Amino acid sequence: MKKTTGELLQVAQLGHQILRKKAKQVKEVKNPTVQKLIDNLIATVMDVDGVGIAAPQVYQSLRIFILASHPNPRYPKAPKMKPTAVINPKIISLSKEKKKDWEGCLSIPGIRGLIPRALNIKVEYTTRAGKRVGKTFADFVARIFQHEYDHLEGVMFVDRIESSKDIISEKEYQKLMKRQMSKK
Ligand SMILES: [Zn+2]
Repeated sequence: MKKTTGELLQVAQLGHQILRKKAKQVKEVKNPTVQKLIDNLIATVMDVDGVGIAAPQVYQSLRIFILASHPNPRYPKAPKMKPTAVINPKIISLSKEKKKDWEGCLSIPGIRGLIPRALNIKVEYTTRAGKRVGKTFADFVARIFQHEYDHLEGVMFVDRIESSKDIISEKEYQKLMKRQMSKK
């Protein structure tokens, strides 16, 4: 596990009101409180080997999330990225083409859901250095971005499940992944 300077934070669980609020714009990105929050979010997501976390999940209703894609058994080709802070993001466009895939959430332990997401997205956001940037993301990273962006809007992945049959337990999910991997 990589060392960061951040501290581990408590993660709000489904049912807590903070997860349902629309988060507020960050006014001063360079503010030490904001920078510290970013460090703590990164430490927290890395501690659990997660691929993303949003500020409302740690009881801070601010428009900040971390993208931390890295290769994993399910997405061996997932891009390895340095945990990246995304501040005041805007989704410019979403591709019409969608794909359903399994998602989990640190705020909803124990279950996985099959969630449709746009395959490609065009976004802009402010970096932790205060620079406004435009980016395009595809596949797995686009999925993480959409999942984390939803947290800023008070939307949870369970809201996007199309059928209750698309919800499974973590235990069954792990078995499913093992079966899929042995087929490859
Ligand atoms: Zn989540």
